[in-house]
Parts: sequence; C-alpha cells; structure tokens
Amino acid sequence: MQLEDLVALCKRRGFVYQSSAIYGGLQGFFDYGPLGVELKNNIKNAWWREIVHLREDVYGLDSAIILNKSVLNHSGHSDTFHDILIDCKECKCRFRDDEMKTKNECPGCGCADLSQPREFNLMMHVNLGPTHGVHGVLRPETAQGVFINFKNVCDSFSPTLPFGIAQIGKAFRNEITPRNFVFRVREFEQMELEFFIKRDQADKWFAYWVEQRVAWWKKIGVTNIKLLNQKPQELAHYSSATTDIAFEFPHGLEEVEGIANRGDFDLGSHTKMQEQFDIKAKVKENKDSVDKLCMHEDGASFIPNLVETSSGLDRAFLAVLASAYCVEKIDESERVVLKLHPALAPIKAAVIPLAKNRPELVALARKIFTNLKACNIFPVELESGGNIGKCYRKHDEIGTPFCITVDFDTLETNKVTVRDRDTMQQIHVHIDDVVTFIEEKIRL
Ligand code: ATP
Repeated sequence: MQLEDLVALCKRRGFVYQSSAIYGGLQGFFDYGPLGVELKNNIKNAWWREIVHLREDVYGLDSAIILNKSVLNHSGHSDTFHDILIDCKECKCRFRDDEMKTKNECPGCGCADLSQPREFNLMMHVNLGPTHGVHGVLRPETAQGVFINFKNVCDSFSPTLPFGIAQIGKAFRNEITPRNFVFRVREFEQMELEFFIKRDQADKWFAYWVEQRVAWWKKIGVTNIKLLNQKPQELAHYSSATTDIAFEFPHGLEEVEGIANRGDFDLGSHTKMQEQFDIKAKVKENKDSVDKLCMHEDGASFIPNLVETSSGLDRAFLAVLASAYCVEKIDESERVVLKLHPALAPIKAAVIPLAKNRPELVALARKIFTNLKACNIFPVELESGGNIGKCYRKHDEIGTPFCITVDFDTLETNKVTVRDRDTMQQIHVHIDDVVTFIEEKIRL
C-alpha cells in the first residue's frame, strides 16, 4: 500500500480533507470529515479510557492553547525549540538540514548553491487584545499546560506520589516542511501523560510506561511497531532515557510516541526559589514564577521527577488506518477493506432493507436502526436499500464491522442477516438480540 492510497480513500470517503482547499489550501493543515472525526474521537476515547478512567492515579486536564510567553521561556522552548533551516538559492525551496540526502545538495533541485544553516524556532505567536499589546504563544506541546497546573491539581486533590496528569489537545509547530499527509503537520493533537514519581523510582516507572504504551498500541490494532532507544548522545540534556515507539508507515519507520524520563527538569524550571530544592537538572533561573512546584513529605519539600508519554493523535490516526487497510482479491474483483478494531470504527453498523420499494422492510429496518441508537450504539447508518453489493463495498471501505440486512424472511422469522466485515460470513440473529450482539463485539 502507498500513502497515496490512504490519502485518496480519506478524501473519497470523508475522513480527511485538505484545509482551505477552495482557496488553494494551506500547507500543513487538514480538516477531519464526518468519518475522520468519529475515528479520531474513538482513538482519543481509547487513550483516555486506558490512561485516565481505568486508573486510580491519573487526573485529566484541558488547559488553554495559548500560553504566556514566560511559560515557554522557562520550559526551554524559546531558546532551544529549533530546527536547522537551509535555503536553496537556486530553486528557493527551504528544508531542514536532516532532509538532505547528500551533503551540500538541495533535495529539491540537486544544486549546491545553499545558504548557511540557521536556527529556526518552531513556535507560533499571536497578538492578543484590541491594541495588540499582549503577546501569546500557541503551545508547541500540551505538556506545559500540565506543569503550570501541577500546583492547582495538588491543592484540589492532595494526591500522593506516584500520580499522573493527562491531557489531549491541539499543539502547533511551524514545521519547515510539513509532509506525508497528517504525519507532519503544523496543527495537530497530542495525547500526553505526565507521571510524577520519586527520583529513586524513575527507572522502574519508565520501564512500566514503555510496556503499558506498547500494549495499548497493539490493543488498538497497531502491531507493526518497534522500540527505538535514543542513544546517550541523542538525549535532551534533562533526559536520562527516551524510548520512541515507531511505526512502519507507508513512507517509512517513524515515531508515533515518545516516552521520556525527564527527571526534575520541568517542575524545577517552572518553580520559584529553585535554590531551596535539590534540583538535579540544569534549569534556568526563574524570577517570573510565583509558585513552588513541590510536594511535601515527612517534613521535607522536594520537586518530583516525571516520566512522560507523548503521542500524536494525527499520527495515531494514520497508523490505525495503515494497519487496517487491506486489498483482497475476490474472484475477478478486488475489495478494499478497513479492518479497524470495531471499537474504533467510525460507523458501528449499517442497517439495510433489501428492497427500497417495500415499505414493510424499510419500516422494520428503521425500527432496528432507531433501537440501536436508543441503546447507545452509534453512529449507525440506515441505508436506503437497493443494491446490497454496493452497500457492502462502501461499508468495507469505511470499516463498518457489521451490515444488518432486513429481507423478506425477516418478516416471517424475525431474524436479520448480519454480515461480518472481515470474514464476510453471514449469520442470522433474532431482532431482539441484535443490540447485545453488536454491543459485545464493539468493546475494546
Ligand atoms: P519528530 O522528530 O517526528 O518531529 P518530535 O520528536 O519532535 O517528533 P515530540 O516533540 O516528542 O515529537 O512530540 C510528541 C509526539 O507528538 C510525536 O511522537 C508525534 O506523534 C507528535 N508530533 C510531533 N510533531 C508533530 C507534527 N508536526 N505533526 C503531527 N504530529 C506531531
């Protein structure tokens, strides 16, 4: 499968569209269509369920997207969140130094007339208020919202270590060359967990989270993954260990999630009176913060360490689609099928009356459709009836796990035909059992 196959399917079937397309588009921005938003929400829910709802030690958060620039000054982003940019003087294209396949050769036109490499900060800035006097920054990661709310969560809930704060939300990076569809974009969503721990427990929790996160990716059907441990020389100065979970995308093996042992860098950086604490990370002096981001135990105050798991929702979306996409040969024809985990499928079931001109079939199909929704199984789609082969093909391609057909026998037997997307096998299910049947199959 090529990336183009997925891009074409996403556009054709309403998963993802180029943003601002009717005005020529805007590079690095995409809009999620009716099926895309369902799939994306299902991935988010699967993550939130696992990280927040099924646990007793993680709090959820939804913090503001625009930050006071002091947050980014003390997080290190203003000074170090750069990519190295090179301009080609011949074809005028701009690229990151790591995109050069051959040294001193433009990846666009191949010429050697290049500018000196220079640092390019990836953060996006906004002016706020009527006089444009206030400067805000669009967050480049959701994590900073967690750190600046650490004290609030501690004050409201009095947690004891270890505990985590999780957030899903938009992040913005002025990527030099957005590419590979939703893999590298300028506006994206992250699913991040900051798990606060005692210093001497860091290795144990780091290993624990790597294992947990690999298990989650496998559970949602993303199995073609590899763990890449960053070498000591590649590590950020505050990190003692980073493992990337990489997925074999159609365009190559690339990171979908990073898990990092970040020590006390983040809370230490945002805290006032740093000298009062035994901070191990190299932090910039902080005269702007008004709070100490510490905890108290046995009469002592200390700054916790943390392990972070940071994944991109748009990359998860692409990895889920790529893992599910199959082309199967049936007799002389081909069927494209998205073998999504039913819990992730944008549409859970389609109800199809065999003939659209038979009111009794259409009415019964509508009754089943309404009943499924009333029992919290949705979205479900009610087909208008008619060409059943065409309905199957459409629902295979968008990953609907079950097609429920109401035919003339149904009127006699009260049984519908349920077709399984993956095996194409058909079984008869009593109308009264349809909800339970589907309910059991769409659980994660
Ligand atoms: P890369 O090296 O691919 O640019 P990164 O190491 O800068 O990624 P992190 O800062 O660790 O990424 O961000 C955590 C996660 O956020 C990544 O694993 C990825 O899934 C997602 N992410 C980061 N940048 C982008 C982007 N431009 N578009 C889509 N997702 C992104």
